[in-house]
Amino acid sequence: MARRKKSSLKGLGARYGLKPRKKFTKIHHLLKKRRKCPECGSIKFARQTVGIWFCKKCEFKIAGLAYDVAV
Ligand SMILES: [Zn+2]
Repeated sequence: MARRKKSSLKGLGARYGLKPRKKFTKIHHLLKKRRKCPECGSIKFARQTVGIWFCKKCEFKIAGLAYDVAV
């Protein structure tokens, strides 16, 4: 079987060129990946707005980075 490079450049369509799209995808995955709440261990932990991370289960709120939790 021929080896194919795995690519998942989603979200921007055919716009902006390859480099920004790659960057966008990387950050997008980082932002959307499942995280565990440091307080209760639930996976309902996600970014609420830029820099604010919130757990829907226990309502734990923490300040982090724009696309990642700073730990
Ligand atoms: Zn929690």
